[in-house]
Amino acid sequence: MSSKPSRIKPPLGPDNAWWWDQVSKGTVFPIQRCSGCGKLRHPPRPICDACRSMEWNWIAASGRATLHSYTVIHHPAFPGYEYPILIALVDLEEGERAISQLVDCDRDAVRIGMSLEARIQTDADGFKLPVFRPVA
Ligand SMILES: [Zn+2]
Repeated sequence: MSSKPSRIKPPLGPDNAWWWDQVSKGTVFPIQRCSGCGKLRHPPRPICDACRSMEWNWIAASGRATLHSYTVIHHPAFPGYEYPILIALVDLEEGERAISQLVDCDRDAVRIGMSLEARIQTDADGFKLPVFRPVA
């Protein structure tokens, strides 16, 4: 077991636990889909804003995205993180927008609109989360 502090875990509830469970099983980026009208929605939530259906299923996104915006976090320095952190707002190929971490990318090389791909990052404690990196 690592003596290093680990990443702060997301709070899990009935609306999002399934999403993290799918990521832990290897789905790089699940997207919730309304069973009533087929509209995609992310982050997961209980009711479709288009048809009010509470029935849903999900799809596995391609993982392809473009960078919509980003920010660089330097402070506060929580244990378990390596700084600076590039936080990305990405437009998924499927049309949904998501917040994630940009990895394998020098800060000076970040460009709005750059092509990205998702991969699952596994932390030292085994926690898995999707992150994005530039497409080579
Ligand atoms: Zn719907």
